[in-house]
Amino acid sequence: MLDRDDPELLTEEKWQAIVRNDESHDFKFFYAVTSTGIFCRPSCKSKVPNRDNVRIFRNAEQAMREEFRPCKRCKPTGERLPDREWVGIMTDYMDKNFAEPITLTDLAEVCHGSPYHLHRTFKRIMDMTPAEYLQNIRIEKAQDYLRNTSKSAREIGSLVGFQHTSYFITVFKRRTGCTPAEYRQQRIDGR
Ligand SMILES: [Zn+2]
Repeated sequence: MLDRDDPELLTEEKWQAIVRNDESHDFKFFYAVTSTGIFCRPSCKSKVPNRDNVRIFRNAEQAMREEFRPCKRCKPTGERLPDREWVGIMTDYMDKNFAEPITLTDLAEVCHGSPYHLHRTFKRIMDMTPAEYLQNIRIEKAQDYLRNTSKSAREIGSLVGFQHTSYFITVFKRRTGCTPAEYRQQRIDGR
């Protein structure tokens, strides 16, 4: 049973503090966003989350114990999140959302940082850009579908996040050296 004083309850007052980036609530509580795995101070300038995805914590340790990671932007623990951890948030996000259109700006919003800094840090740590990483996942998923389903190239392209079939085929060929149809045929032939 939750009573009115439950410190982990998302009250209207807390919600308003989050929406208004109200600094006077900082360190009275923290909020975590379940869809991104990040937690923030109420004053964080990042995009207002979907209310259904918000969880409230009394302190940063609790949030971290539940495997939420401190936001890079508002630094709820007072320390900088290590770059490698931050890049981990981006790759997790892309691993889960590859089927959606994801721009660098979206990623910057979700992962709480500037697009420029995000791009640079990602490249330094992963040795590829976020766009290349995303394309790798999409092509791998497409290969999975080609091997294991009879879906058309058009369907598969859209399932893995390409909005245009012709672009999907071009990228697929550039990455794998063959078209989706050839790739599937080779698997059938056992080559
Ligand atoms: Zn934040």
